[in-house]
Amino acid sequence: MKDRTLLMIPGPIEFEPAVLAALGAPTTSHVAPDFIEAFGQALERLREVFLCPDGQPFVVAGSGTLAMDLAGANLVEPGDRALVYNTGYFGDRYGALLERYGAQVTHVRAPVGGRPGLDEVESALEQIQPKLMTVTHVDTSTGVIADVEALSALAQECGTLIVVDGVCSVAGEELRMAEWGVDVALTASQKAISVPPGLALLVAGPRALDAFHSRETPVANYYADWSNWLPVMEAYEARRPSYFGTPAVNLIWALNVSVGQILDEGMDARVARHRSLSRACKAAIAALGLGQVPLEPEFAANTMTAPRYPAGVGAADLLPRIKKAGAILAGGLHPQIKAEYFRIGHMGPTNAGDLLATVGAVETGLAGCGYAFKAGTGVAAAIAAM
Ligand SMILES: *Cc1c(COP(=O)(O)O)cnc(C)c1O
Repeated sequence: MKDRTLLMIPGPIEFEPAVLAALGAPTTSHVAPDFIEAFGQALERLREVFLCPDGQPFVVAGSGTLAMDLAGANLVEPGDRALVYNTGYFGDRYGALLERYGAQVTHVRAPVGGRPGLDEVESALEQIQPKLMTVTHVDTSTGVIADVEALSALAQECGTLIVVDGVCSVAGEELRMAEWGVDVALTASQKAISVPPGLALLVAGPRALDAFHSRETPVANYYADWSNWLPVMEAYEARRPSYFGTPAVNLIWALNVSVGQILDEGMDARVARHRSLSRACKAAIAALGLGQVPLEPEFAANTMTAPRYPAGVGAADLLPRIKKAGAILAGGLHPQIKAEYFRIGHMGPTNAGDLLATVGAVETGLAGCGYAFKAGTGVAAAIAAM
């Protein structure tokens, strides 16, 4: 495509033509038989994408924050204790959200770019005995990935529900919901699920549904109440029409195309591809002499990279130059270090060519800012690491 500028931010991302075509198709009724079939199939496929055969998927029009809200509203009752495994901006958001529903929230935090130790989490769980713990799988403000498998094991030992904000991870990072004992995992369409913004996606496991069914107080959010959505999801999956709020028909058509493509690639192959692209991107950034926000290499996510600006180079200068050279990147998000770093998303349909073009654009931008390095260093490192 002529004049194409790659959208390489941590969501929204580049989308597949077949997904965009579904979005642009004439809108059907939400109770048309072929739409019911597509919605039902999308729900079945989501269970496979989340690797949760006994989970209940929810697809609701809204953004990722609504997906967070669905879990918070339906699982929290006033006075419940909650623990937030906090690795950045979205942990803060989850804490604020849970408090809105009356939870007593404790955060376990680490310095920016770090992550709380498992021992700290274990003692917090033992001391607080929370009803639920939220974990941001990849905090998009720091590029830090949490060890969800280990955290789930700790939560299970304490009988605490674990809710994983997988908005920047599901369908990009390894997340084995059932096998690891994750009770709720959630995401949004515009990240690694690879559908334009507008859908909140969530899968609730059996323990989360039990906790919901044994609530003593009504859900303090009308739109988010699972009582309204559960019959709708069950009906569509049984290929029957149902209604609570009009589904985002075209987005759901597009979702079904995308989750079909994701499963065609295979979850293991998809995770491996994301790891390979991430290795290449991080190798390029290191070779160019730039630091990264995650304090240790094993803390760094595979769906995005968070490079620090080199001395003397700032967002206002660098990012427009990179864009002119062909790649749109994102500035900082974490309030403490906002002006010190930028963010590269490499998830979903991103391929090796996109990544090399992005690294090339970063080199062009850096050179334009007067930063001294040997041209081609980043691209060579990326190719060697793929
Ligand atoms: C993007 C993101 C969100 C918020 O999603 P919206 O669609 O912007 O509401 C929440 N958590 C994480 C980890 C994210 O990356």
